[in-house]
Amino acid sequence: MKVPPVYNTVAVVVAIGVIIISTATLSWFSYHYTVGRENLAETTLVQTNIKLATQYVDRIEQKIIDNDGILSEMVDVNEPSKWPAMVDAIRKSDLNVDMVYFLRPGRNYLLYPPYSYEIRNLWGAFHDSFKIKEINVDNLTVDQMNHLQKERPNNYFFASYVMKENRKGEKILVCYQMNFYKIVVLLDNRLRDLQKDFYVAAVDFENNGIYNLPISRSSKYYYEMRFPSTLYKWILQIVPRNYTELEREVKIQRRTNLFFIILSTTLIFFSLAIIYVAGRRERQLRQLKEDFISNVSHELKTPLSLIRMFSEILVTGRVKREDTKKEYYNIIHNESDRMSRLINNLLDFAILRQAENGKYFERTNIARLVSKELEAYRYEIQKDGFQITVEVDSSVPDTYADPNAITMAFFNLLDNSVKYSGDQRQITVRVEQRNGCVDLSVVDKGFGIPDAEQPKIFEKFYRGSNASVRKVRGSGIGLSITKHVAEMHGGEVLVESTPGKGSTFTLRIPIRQPPDLAGS
Ligand code: ADP
Repeated sequence: MKVPPVYNTVAVVVAIGVIIISTATLSWFSYHYTVGRENLAETTLVQTNIKLATQYVDRIEQKIIDNDGILSEMVDVNEPSKWPAMVDAIRKSDLNVDMVYFLRPGRNYLLYPPYSYEIRNLWGAFHDSFKIKEINVDNLTVDQMNHLQKERPNNYFFASYVMKENRKGEKILVCYQMNFYKIVVLLDNRLRDLQKDFYVAAVDFENNGIYNLPISRSSKYYYEMRFPSTLYKWILQIVPRNYTELEREVKIQRRTNLFFIILSTTLIFFSLAIIYVAGRRERQLRQLKEDFISNVSHELKTPLSLIRMFSEILVTGRVKREDTKKEYYNIIHNESDRMSRLINNLLDFAILRQAENGKYFERTNIARLVSKELEAYRYEIQKDGFQITVEVDSSVPDTYADPNAITMAFFNLLDNSVKYSGDQRQITVRVEQRNGCVDLSVVDKGFGIPDAEQPKIFEKFYRGSNASVRKVRGSGIGLSITKHVAEMHGGEVLVESTPGKGSTFTLRIPIRQPPDLAGS
């Protein structure tokens, strides 16, 4: 069953459309999938960092709280006489305490150490930061440790304090002023492990580095965390040591993925374009072949039916007159001649396409060859009312060529000029030497060829679309043979044509020496 071409076209368009849409969808999804996966990997990494930072913050916090417990235990408010010894012991311990103050709440009255000239500076500094009014003394739970942290330029204040009650029911506020440097050492001890894989810093609220230099917050792998209740004015910052590599890797990965997605999409579109072009070319070729077959069969059928008709008339012996008989013989002869020319052309075409290039090359003089061939053919053309002008330059040098192929190409050009001349029956055949080539031109004043058709006429099976051309019988292979012959010789076929004015076809063959003479 023959499928109408329109269905083929629709099927191809639909198939291509489906492929384009599915490719685009697939690319879109794969891009988003990869981006999603990268984001997931990033989020996991950041979450791991958060977990780690939380662990370390908790450990530091816990250490301070544990120390607080010990400090609270070391003080007995019932024994003021032992306070000097207790304070001494605390300061000497590794609990990071600079000084211990015993205060009577409400009035900020210093119970211990007794105010003296020696401690006036220390007490002054403590008093400046530890303002009893700022602490809600009445709400303090007995024996529960609290923390006070202050930031001052060049001096960070950190104190733990606890409300105690003696046997007499008097409340005594015990304040432990911590040593800033020892706290930093505590941070250092606790954070050392973390620093193997991370840049770690502790900063104050104004981003001044307390422990290490502040870390830039720009990386997406950066994470910061506050200490919940102890060093609550400080912030712990961390970022993986290899964060630049991580970022670069992610960037490269993303670019690579994008590149491959674009590449594969482009390749698919490119292949589709090739399939589309090849399909179109295939369809055109099929169409041309169908035209060719119908042209050839028409070309063969017409002379054959004429031959048959006139031979039948002759065989029956109905024609008595000798001159009529002669006329019929002539028709039969001419028609069989036309048929054999067509068959020869077809055979030449087949042979030429398979011929081993250069097999029949020999020293050839194209000018002489053309003159000789014209001798025989000229009469036939003139008989049909053609005026033929021959301008052959006899000084054209010999060249290395296949004489039969050149003759075939020449006759194709001449035959076309006869076929497509219409009423303007003037033909010029010219052979001349030009720029190292022999130019064999056939000029007519016939139908001419539109510009748009000129490149197509050399394709095999192509026939002109013009109505007057269509009336003329042909197979669409003559010029394709001519072009092939030219190319076999390293030359070309040129066409100059104006519709209604005529055409000039030039077979241009480069002048070459036979290989054995080439060196001499
Ligand atoms: P055919 O002559 O059998 O159609 P050709 O390959 O020789 O095949 O020519 C291809 C087409 O080129 C012709 O159908 C015609 O349209 C155009 N053509 C060739 N020679 C001429 C010419 N001298 N004048 C006008 N048109 C020409």
